[in-house]
Amino acid sequence: MCGIVAYVGSKVARPILLEGLKRLEYRGYDSAGIAVLTGGKLHVARRVGRVANLQEAIEGQAAFDGSLGLCHTRWATHGGVTDFNAHPHTDDRHGIALVHNGIIENYAALKTYLQEKGHSFSSQTDTEVLVMLIGELYEGDLEKAVQAALREVTGAYAICVICEKEPGVLVCARKGSPLMVGIGSDNEYVVASDGAAIIAHTGRVVMLDDYNVVKMDAGGFRTTDIHNTPLSPRVQQLEIELEQIELGGFTHFMLKEIFEQPKSVRACISGRLDMREGRVVLGGLSSFAKELTKARRVVITAQGTALHAAMIGRYMLEDLAKIPTQTEYASEFRYRNPVIEENTVVIAVSQSGETADTLAALHEAKERGALALGVVNVVGSSIARETDAGVYLRVGPEIGVASTKAFIGQVTVLSLISMYMARKRFMSADQCLDLMKEMEAIPGKIERILEQAGRIKRITEKYVERENWLFLGRGYNYPTALEGALKLKEISYIHAEGMPAAEMKHGPIALINEGMPAVFIANRGRQYEKVMSNIQEVRSRGGHVIAVATEGDTEIAKHVQDVMYVPDVCEPLSPILTVVPLQLMAYYAAVARGHDVDKPRNLAKSVTVE
Ligand code: GLU
Repeated sequence: MCGIVAYVGSKVARPILLEGLKRLEYRGYDSAGIAVLTGGKLHVARRVGRVANLQEAIEGQAAFDGSLGLCHTRWATHGGVTDFNAHPHTDDRHGIALVHNGIIENYAALKTYLQEKGHSFSSQTDTEVLVMLIGELYEGDLEKAVQAALREVTGAYAICVICEKEPGVLVCARKGSPLMVGIGSDNEYVVASDGAAIIAHTGRVVMLDDYNVVKMDAGGFRTTDIHNTPLSPRVQQLEIELEQIELGGFTHFMLKEIFEQPKSVRACISGRLDMREGRVVLGGLSSFAKELTKARRVVITAQGTALHAAMIGRYMLEDLAKIPTQTEYASEFRYRNPVIEENTVVIAVSQSGETADTLAALHEAKERGALALGVVNVVGSSIARETDAGVYLRVGPEIGVASTKAFIGQVTVLSLISMYMARKRFMSADQCLDLMKEMEAIPGKIERILEQAGRIKRITEKYVERENWLFLGRGYNYPTALEGALKLKEISYIHAEGMPAAEMKHGPIALINEGMPAVFIANRGRQYEKVMSNIQEVRSRGGHVIAVATEGDTEIAKHVQDVMYVPDVCEPLSPILTVVPLQLMAYYAAVARGHDVDKPRNLAKSVTVE
């Protein structure tokens, strides 16, 4: 959830650490801290708030000029947001400092044990227990003490550890939470929870697997498991460009990523549409073509925005490929004893590929014999590695905490998978070709919507003071309504509910009062007339309707307060267009309310704890 950056080498660590940390700030940001070993002594600073606060606190202090150090942004799980609970945590005997992402589940029992051994604690975190345990087990070899401690803990962790007694040594390890080691020249290493903090220094990385422990020093690096068995990890190339993780003239990453969406869809479909044969080419799935043809049921599992994409995927798989499909919160799926029959395909959808619940659901599904597919953005992430096969989004790094281009990428990939499976069953080449032509036209159509950003901003500002909003849609655009409501909640803290437009009558209609904004996705499609009736129902109770409608539908303007137009498109692909005005609305509402769009309160980008 949080961000970790650590450095060992011959340079001054501080700027590398702090710059890296700023790039990871979107991952979690309630407090930040740093520990640097300078002149054989550990120097620690921790501050509630942003990385900038921490930077200011240590400005000009030579004590932080050493070349071994680690730092952290916290997203609190155990213990309030205070300076004392911020990382790094230190032990009370050997000058060991540790940063941690995750949760040590058996921390309470370990804490009692350590207290009996005479250790005293200064924070309420689970993390401090781990560093004390490493200290307790330390006998002059940090790597061994870390391995021994990790054999005792349950839970999830990505950790980096340094020790005053071993001034050139950095040790890191992971289980459940992501961590990678960037290998620079001359035995220089940058360890971080994601590539954004590494790419400015090196593109060569080792992605840690669960239970990997890596020790780095001037003599090189070595990887073992927690039982000290040597391993030979694979060095790979990071697929990130520096410009992808910079603002490039935009005020926020979220806005930049909304405007990148035409490019994202182009990248996502590039090379995947075979217009000559009328079929979709998905290299990642080719070795499982037979199993996919035989598939009797598909389960798509995800959380948050990815679940909304999954719900659209479900409509497509049933509509186009005629395969019974269900969607489910990964967090529910894994704990409810799900029935997985023969020939079931489970698709895990996650931008980061690290979502803890989705990863756990995937394990559950595999254990029960399902073929596991991944739809993820981050190459080499845990879900990408642990699925049997998958399809990458290729939309580039998503930094904005509120997901936008990844959502569009997920819907695009799920539609490609649906077309791929449909062609293996009932769909003719011509039908597929028609859909692929529609798909090719999508980027240009998104551009047309983006041209109306100014108008969408003005419409949003009319309603921005209202505290309760409804988002309503039907069919393919019912999940779009859910996504529109989620976006608004996430960054503008306005209460919003999304639901199928017909469901409103079964209760929520009681909420409607004079001037309540109700956003209807009312593009042309099979249920257009029905949606129009639902609009009337809201209007007659005083609600103010903002419609997302199809270009050329001038009639609708007579029945609603405001209209945001999207180009015409076939129904299955329509959510890729209709969601764009809703993303822009959420963005402009948050800006108008003065919120920090890229760092919404309480949220973190990838949820790597359950
Ligand atoms: N569980 C730890 C804490 O609450 C680490 C949280 C994090 O991943 O930032 O301090």
